[in-house]
Amino acid sequence: MEWFLQCPHNPGIDTKPVIFDTTLRDGEQTPGVSFSPEMKLKIAGELSALGIKEIEAGFPVVSQGEFKAVRMISKEGLPARIFALSRAIVSDVELAVDAGVDGISLFTSISPVHLKYKMKYTKEEVVKNALEALEFAKDHNLFVSFSSEDATRTPLGELFTLYKMAEERGADRVHISDTVGVATPQAYQHMVEFFRRVMKKDTQIGVHTHNDFGLATANALAGVAAGADMVSVTVNGIGERSGNASLQEVALALEVLYGTESIVDKSRILLLSRLVEEYSGIRIPENKPIIGKNAFRHESGVHVDAVLKNPLTYEPFLPEVIGQKREIVIGKHSGKHAVKNKLSELGLHSTEYSELLGEIKRIVDKGYGISEDDIEALIKG
Ligand code: MN
Repeated sequence: MEWFLQCPHNPGIDTKPVIFDTTLRDGEQTPGVSFSPEMKLKIAGELSALGIKEIEAGFPVVSQGEFKAVRMISKEGLPARIFALSRAIVSDVELAVDAGVDGISLFTSISPVHLKYKMKYTKEEVVKNALEALEFAKDHNLFVSFSSEDATRTPLGELFTLYKMAEERGADRVHISDTVGVATPQAYQHMVEFFRRVMKKDTQIGVHTHNDFGLATANALAGVAAGADMVSVTVNGIGERSGNASLQEVALALEVLYGTESIVDKSRILLLSRLVEEYSGIRIPENKPIIGKNAFRHESGVHVDAVLKNPLTYEPFLPEVIGQKREIVIGKHSGKHAVKNKLSELGLHSTEYSELLGEIKRIVDKGYGISEDDIEALIKG
């Protein structure tokens, strides 16, 4: 059996973007979250086992522990390329070199609001410093992803001028960062298409999206459709404020919605999700797509009846491919088939489905939930 049915109205894509995971950097910047070096190493190992090709391990200048963690991960010999975040300052780049990373996300900002309230220099000085740091990084053989933060609130012409200068000085990739999650998918697609057109063919485009309006995954997908080579994600979508595009959503959407070849070892998706939930302390909401507890739970009688015949009637793909579970829940909207199925799951026998369902509905109508133990008690009278 197929594990999903395609929506025939979706346009497919014929590229296969690199997934760049920043759980250990942007994800760790979630307020209140910090990972120990050992936790970081464990998560990096799981990301690599999942098949992630690029891992941003941290921001070495933050603390000694952070530097140590980035260096430990770099020395681990994982097949993934290891990145560090670096301000556009030579001393930050030096730390990244000492940590032994393969590449850096080198960031500056020329967004008007950042220039006015955050950057300590004029725009000309900011640009000069950024390009100096970039040249220093290239002299030390680092892969450089060059990023002007808040790109989506920066005039396109100014961003264009900066990115062309960065390209001239050897930037391998430029990021279109929707730092505060304010772009619509249409605007984002337009921006990425523009940069895909004006940058040299071998300058890569990376997309980095935030979820302030619940659009992080939609924008990431719009960027990929517009020709982005790399898509930035975090496990469970953790990250600054409302988080980043979720690795699980992007990876599954690429395959199921865009029809790309398989990018990750899907069977490990839930395992990694639970690990990051435990280490970060950020609980996964029940209605979180793909990995939430409710993502493959069914109660309504009509749905349950159909799902028991073929799950794809009411599921976008089969949960078992990612280690998730389908669950039939007994409640107010249940029908006879659900009760019959639940009894056989529990190893109980009764042919009085209608009576049992009537009793269940009398209980839930009073506002109580019904557990498997309650069902057992009802049967045994
Ligand atoms: Mn970010």
